[in-house]
Amino acid sequence: MPNRLIQICERRQADEEYEEEKRLFYVAITRARRNLILGEGHCYRAQGQWRRWLLGTIAAVSETENVLERVRRGQLSEAVIPCAQASLSVIRAGTLSRQRIKEGRREVHESFPQGSELRGLANQVFGWMPLPPRVVELSPGALSDLAKCERYFYLSRMEGLAEFPPSPNGSIDAMDLGNFVHAILESFPSGTPPGLISEELDHLLGEKLEPGLLDPGVGQEVKDDLARFFQGPVWQRIAGNTSLQRELPFVLALRSTQVELFIRGRIDAVVCEEGNPLILDYKYSLNDENQLPKYEIPMDIYALALMKALGSRTAEVILAFLRERTNAIVSRAVTDPEQIEARLLALAQSYQEKVFRNDMQEWKKIDQSRCHALECGFRSYCWK
Ligand code: SF4
Repeated sequence: MPNRLIQICERRQADEEYEEEKRLFYVAITRARRNLILGEGHCYRAQGQWRRWLLGTIAAVSETENVLERVRRGQLSEAVIPCAQASLSVIRAGTLSRQRIKEGRREVHESFPQGSELRGLANQVFGWMPLPPRVVELSPGALSDLAKCERYFYLSRMEGLAEFPPSPNGSIDAMDLGNFVHAILESFPSGTPPGLISEELDHLLGEKLEPGLLDPGVGQEVKDDLARFFQGPVWQRIAGNTSLQRELPFVLALRSTQVELFIRGRIDAVVCEEGNPLILDYKYSLNDENQLPKYEIPMDIYALALMKALGSRTAEVILAFLRERTNAIVSRAVTDPEQIEARLLALAQSYQEKVFRNDMQEWKKIDQSRCHALECGFRSYCWK
C-alpha cells in the first residue's frame, strides 16, 4: 500500500478513535448522580484525551485561570470551580483528610456493593499510594526527551501538551516529508551502480509519490538530496555489504536492582564490519548543532542493542543529515557499553521515581539559554 495511503488511513482511524473517546466520556460524565471522580492516569501511555478536554473547559472559565496548577503545586489544597449548573472540586489527592478518604470510600462501596474492581480503584484513588512501577518501557525518543529536559518530558509525554510553535522538525509537514524520504531510503536497491542512481530515484519517486503530496519543486529537492547521499561515501561504503539491513526492529532489555527497562525501536540501516556494527540514522534536515545532543541517546541505544546482539565492544554510529550539502555526516565511535547502560538505567529510575507524583515542581527546568538554543515550544509556559 502506498505510504501516503497508510498515513491517511491511520489519521482517519485516529479521528474515529478520538470521536469515540469523546462520546464515551460524555456518556460517563452525564450518568453521574452525586459525585463524579476523575483520576489522573498512572502512566503517560494510559492517559486519554479527556484530561485535555477538561483542562480546556476549565481554562475557558476565566476566574479559574491557574487554579489547577496552583492545586497541583500545593499553593491551594483545593478549589471549587463553578460550571453552569454544577461545580467541579479540584482536590490535591495527597491533602485529602482521613475523614474525607473514609467518606469517599464509603460512598463508592455503597454505590457499588458488588464491584470489587471499583472498590479496588476507589482504594487507589483515595489512598493515593501507588507503588512505583518496577518494569518500565520507554522509547528511544522518550529517553532522549528525559535526558534533554525532564520538564519537557513531563509536559509533552505526560501532560500531552503540544509545543507551540512546533519544534523545527516537529511540524506535520516536516514529519510527512521525513516519512516519505524514509520510505524511499528503505526501498532503494543497494546494488544500484552510481551511473543509474538518478534513474532509479526517478522510478521510486514516481512510484511512491502520491498526487498532491509534494510541490514539484520540493520533489526535485528530495531527489537531489537523495542522489547526493547515494553517491556519497557513506552509502558507497555500506551498499555492497551483504549484511546490510534496513528498518531493523529491536527490543533492548536492561536491568538493575531498582528497575527493569525495555526499549523498543527501529534502526534505519545497519551493517556488520569485522564483527562490529556500523549504524546509520537518517535525518531529513540540516545539520543543526543545537539539536545534536538530542540524538545522542537514540544513537547510544542503537549501538548498545547491536553491541549486545553481536557480542562486540565497539560500534560506529553515523548520523546522515540529508539536506546538508557540506558537513552532512556526523560519526561517533561508541566504546563503553557499561557506561551507556548505567546512564539509561539512571534515566529510567528518575522516571520511575517521579512518574506517580505527577508534580510539576519535581520536573526541573533547564538553563534558560539552553531552552532558547533548543527552540523549545514550551518557553512561554516555563518562563512566563
Ligand atoms: S522551556 Fe526549557 S525548561 Fe521548559 S520544557 Fe522547554 S527545555 Fe525544558
